[in-house]
Amino acid sequence: MSITHARDILIEATNDGYAIGAFNITSFVQMQAIVEVHIDRKAPLIIQTSVTPSRFLGQSAIVAVLRTLAEQAPIPICLHLDHCTDVDYCKECADLGWTNIMIDASKQPFEDNIRQTKEVAEYCHSLQSVTVEGELGTVSGVEDQVQVVSDEAQLCDPQQALEFVQRTGVDLFAPAIGTAHGVYKTKNPKIDFDRFDRIAKLINGEAVTTPLVIHGGTGLPPDYVRMLIELGGSKFNVSTDLKHALIDATFEYISANREEYNPGKIDQAVKDATRHKVNEWIDMLGSAGRV
Ligand SMILES: [Zn+2]
Repeated sequence: MSITHARDILIEATNDGYAIGAFNITSFVQMQAIVEVHIDRKAPLIIQTSVTPSRFLGQSAIVAVLRTLAEQAPIPICLHLDHCTDVDYCKECADLGWTNIMIDASKQPFEDNIRQTKEVAEYCHSLQSVTVEGELGTVSGVEDQVQVVSDEAQLCDPQQALEFVQRTGVDLFAPAIGTAHGVYKTKNPKIDFDRFDRIAKLINGEAVTTPLVIHGGTGLPPDYVRMLIELGGSKFNVSTDLKHALIDATFEYISANREEYNPGKIDQAVKDATRHKVNEWIDMLGSAGRV
């Protein structure tokens, strides 16, 4: 299969009561590991990067490597740009072959957020095979270019959410409901399930048209993940878990083998740790065997 946009696979997931993992990568070793484990588990996949890794790995190189991996893979794979605040950069990535773009104008006033999101949505839709994610309200924590402290975090208003989706024409929608980027400081993070339920019913009550995205997947208790899927969440963003897997596996390998100079073995340790973590997510999301 070739790489695909995100909307159709997420509509299918929402209708069938499971979710698809959207895994943030910072290296090609991680990308390979995640693709391999999804092929093994017959699970649809969204690979994503935030803007900084897309720059240092190279936007075109990421497309080329993922296309090559996807061609041999019997599963749909989407390439998503995460949390991009720059309209021109969104368009550039869409031109280069990324199949889903998140324009994050959630820090802007409502009307500005609508204007910028609509501009990216219209541009990407003119390219036909590219879909777009928008965000309303603010997810707390740190995500690449976007930093918000939790006191400032504003949750998404359901009526505004409906207006936002209708006026921008976005394909996927990320409402702020209390999830956070990074590591949760408490064992039971405060997630506003009622708010999420109201938003899901307003937007997708009749039929699923605009799949809903959960940011800040790392650290969410499994029963929270299940509840959010039941209420209509179908894309779960997972970033911090994979950063920890990469750094911890590297540190542990080097600490145990300080005299060895074999980078392939470090890569293998990173791959194993990544596969282990991603397998846990596939189990939580129920995405195995869906292809
Ligand atoms: Zn996010």
